[in-house]
Amino acid sequence: MSRGDDTPPGLTLSSARKVVAAHRNGANCWHCEPRRCWLLESAVRLWILDGPLPVAGTVDRELLTVGAQRVVGSHWPGPGDVGECPVCWVVDCEPPREAYAYLAAIRDGYVPAPKERPVVDVLTPTAEELREITGM
Ligand SMILES: [Zn+2]
Ligand SMILES: [Zn+2]
Repeated sequence: MSRGDDTPPGLTLSSARKVVAAHRNGANCWHCEPRRCWLLESAVRLWILDGPLPVAGTVDRELLTVGAQRVVGSHWPGPGDVGECPVCWVVDCEPPREAYAYLAAIRDGYVPAPKERPVVDVLTPTAEELREITGM
């Protein structure tokens, strides 16, 4: 189930901005999965790390903030998750860290609504993945 979180080759700051912009208003891209979008995660991370971070009041600031909120939101633990990410199944998972740090830095104060655990059936995992998930 893991696609890896490495930055895709060829993703530059300007293409990262386009990726983030493509997710504006809750829109999805061709890489979006039901729970997350690794391309959006990579783009938000690259934008934050390679900056410059957009200044308050600009379109870019709005874009990156909404994108970061979406990344954080898709990894936010639900009520029954005991602090673990519903996508990565670990506490304090890697993908949303930069996005969260960015939101904290601009004092966004964004806290996503609690989410339900993902329904395993929707993902139709293979028998092998199922063993991994359940540990049985
Ligand atoms: Zn996407
Ligand atoms: Zn996660």
